[in-house]
Amino acid sequence: MQPLIPDYLSGVLRDCGGDRSGALADYIPELAHVEPERFGMALATVDGAVYCAGDSDIEFTAQSISKPFAYALALEDLGLDEVLAKIDVEPSGDPFNDLSLEAGTGRPLNPMINAGALATHALLERGGSVGARVDRVIAGLSAFAGRQLSVDETVYESELQTAYRNRALANMLRSLDNFEVEPLDVVRGYTRQCAVQVTTRDLAMMAATLANGGVQPATGEQVISRSVVRQVLSVMTTCGMYDSAGDWLSTVGIPAKSGVSGGLLGVLPGQSGIATFSPRLDKHGNSVRGVLAFQQCSDELGLHLMEVAPATRTVVRDQREITADGEVVEVFELHGTIQFAGAERLVRSLVEDAPKISHVVFDLTEVYAMNTVAGSMLRRSARILVSEGRRVTFVDPANIAAATPDGGPLRVVDTLEDVLAG
Ligand code: GLN
Repeated sequence: MQPLIPDYLSGVLRDCGGDRSGALADYIPELAHVEPERFGMALATVDGAVYCAGDSDIEFTAQSISKPFAYALALEDLGLDEVLAKIDVEPSGDPFNDLSLEAGTGRPLNPMINAGALATHALLERGGSVGARVDRVIAGLSAFAGRQLSVDETVYESELQTAYRNRALANMLRSLDNFEVEPLDVVRGYTRQCAVQVTTRDLAMMAATLANGGVQPATGEQVISRSVVRQVLSVMTTCGMYDSAGDWLSTVGIPAKSGVSGGLLGVLPGQSGIATFSPRLDKHGNSVRGVLAFQQCSDELGLHLMEVAPATRTVVRDQREITADGEVVEVFELHGTIQFAGAERLVRSLVEDAPKISHVVFDLTEVYAMNTVAGSMLRRSARILVSEGRRVTFVDPANIAAATPDGGPLRVVDTLEDVLAG
């Protein structure tokens, strides 16, 4: 069979490759030397498949794409409250290098602009030494990518020599007591963080790790916890594309992060990570062809987050009566993924049918996921039914509902036959 997905990605590169508009970032002198025609794309799924096209294995520096990952590490190490005390989560609508600080507290508005990223870097290892902070961020970025990454020393030196604006930002933050460590050290560490070399394939894997609840799909390592993923993706959604975040969210609709070297990554929660590399940038500092490629994929593959799938009305696949031991048993056979809306539908049919039911069976054999709220709604419904004098049985071989039998009217069994067996 023809490799469907790589062919598709190559087609996207062909469709978008003709656009030669935009310009290389030249405020970091070394970035002006890259080959502007480079164009690569990669897609990594949460179960570890990776598809690539074009220049997907060429290394370039991550730049601002390192920011959400450094933020994730800070959250993982210090917890949300400590991080929020230093860096807010409001979109600034300003360019990436703007000095956007909250009036009064002096907190940077979000961790995706440089001010917020400098403050984030300063938090790593609880302020620790320059070396410890840099080690933490490089090891962390490597864990997301699933391979050891290293710093491009030439780009690092080149940026550091001209990093006047970032020095100004760091000095300003220090003067407002956002951090206590030496501002120039923070600029050095942050600049090394930005100079970590990645390929488009690496970026797709890093994005897929976020898509996969923090578990790196290839290595299986839980790099960050689920609650951190939620926070990071929220901030990427509102702030990842700087002053074009609103336009990006409405047209592409994928939490994303761009960098001035031309990389761009997007996260489809629960599905995959996508990345592109093409160095010419638009006026917001986002890759011109990367934005086009994401727009095309979002349209053609239906990836926009707000494009809601038709509601699953069939959480209860089958509701039927069976007779076991001479008793009439009502079986609710559920299937698929059960979340709040699905559980609500089930609870509604329970209430409607309750008067005539003396023994309820929840058959969860075909359910493959149930979120916390759905699980607790199901367990509470079971307890209410029991308190009303009815029997309740869960057919739940994978223990999805985490219902515990009470030795009385609540039972948990593996198969429907067990119910019939009494
Ligand atoms: N290192 C760059 C800077 O601080 C990163 C900016 C970016 O990629 N948008 O200016």
